[in-house]
Amino acid sequence: MKIIAIADHLTPDTGKNVLKMDNTADPRLVDLGGVERIDLTFPKFTDGRAYSQAFLLRRRLGFQGEIRATGDVLIDQLVQMQRAGFDSAVLREGVDAADAQRQFDRFSAFYQGDAVNPEPLFARAGASGASSLLPDRGARSGRAIELNAKASPAFAERLEEAIATLAFAAATGPVTQANSLGAEDMVITHLINAQQLPISVFVLETGALHPQTLALLDQLQAQQAAHPQAPLHILRPQAEAVVQFVEREGAEAMYRSIELRKACCGIRKMEPLARALAGQKGWVTGLRREQSGARAEVPLVDASEQASRDLLKFNPLASWSWGDVWHYIQLHNVAYNPLHDQFYPSIGCAPCTRAISAGEDFRAGRWWWEDEAAKECGLHVKQQQEGAPA
Ligand code: SF4
Repeated sequence: MKIIAIADHLTPDTGKNVLKMDNTADPRLVDLGGVERIDLTFPKFTDGRAYSQAFLLRRRLGFQGEIRATGDVLIDQLVQMQRAGFDSAVLREGVDAADAQRQFDRFSAFYQGDAVNPEPLFARAGASGASSLLPDRGARSGRAIELNAKASPAFAERLEEAIATLAFAAATGPVTQANSLGAEDMVITHLINAQQLPISVFVLETGALHPQTLALLDQLQAQQAAHPQAPLHILRPQAEAVVQFVEREGAEAMYRSIELRKACCGIRKMEPLARALAGQKGWVTGLRREQSGARAEVPLVDASEQASRDLLKFNPLASWSWGDVWHYIQLHNVAYNPLHDQFYPSIGCAPCTRAISAGEDFRAGRWWWEDEAAKECGLHVKQQQEGAPA
């Protein structure tokens, strides 16, 4: 969260397409094409309508530009603003911006539990020490590491098994890794790089990812530039298909029915996936047996798709625990998505992913409004079950 001095805010940002949105406007009805920054107003600090607008812009409409809070903004509101989707704020007159920035950077914890941090502050402090209450700015001691990094007794063997599976995959070639920018996939890409294996990496940039995920994608792009044997390919959906679908069904169609949700996944994920896998002998995924009941039997090498689409699927982390994944991340300083620090174990598109609470299933935050049985996007559903080409 960046705090902007009033004088800087009033200096015109030349060349930037800024939209000033009235706090009575419905963002869903506003044309956001080409907009780089949206200024939302708080006429009084007690008027919270701009929070809803920011949330809608980020979580429902996937707006990825800057969202700025202006008007009667208090220091106390900054953390909540950040959680609602704001990137920057101009504080009310008379407040020193530099001092406010220092305060914000020093301490940004919430007292009450909520959807993002289900446990209240005292419980979080008791569970993992006061240091976890300080803001995580991508530091290696992030909350997800503190909470999860715990190697299982079999970690060394599991690591060897993963490396052997990847080496076998590379020998099968050409093979590509599906990197969803989640913790498991970042570990696998790190292993591919460390072993210098000729396995390309692809990311499905669906156009609906969280800003944090997109920032990690930038980081991954820079990282893979140094590993030419594992080039990164970013696959995006056909723009026209997305526009037509959204015009016809609306931006929130996925919540209306499973069919519409699968249609959205079909356009944004399955079609680009088919392009990513064209000409490949196999693909590498981050599936683990522990992730869900449906994945309990995941093998290291899955040949069940060979008949339907002549592809082997390699799951090098099949036997890893969640603690193993985070132990590896901590050990090797692997870049990870900061959403993991906010109780998002499984991260997908922004409209279809939420944080989970203590005791909830690992994938409870994905398509949470649907029945358990439907909770796959099709990427890992066998062709004979799904009945549609992927
Ligand atoms: S996960 Fe949600 S937003 Fe992403 S492609 Fe599927 S339905 Fe669409």
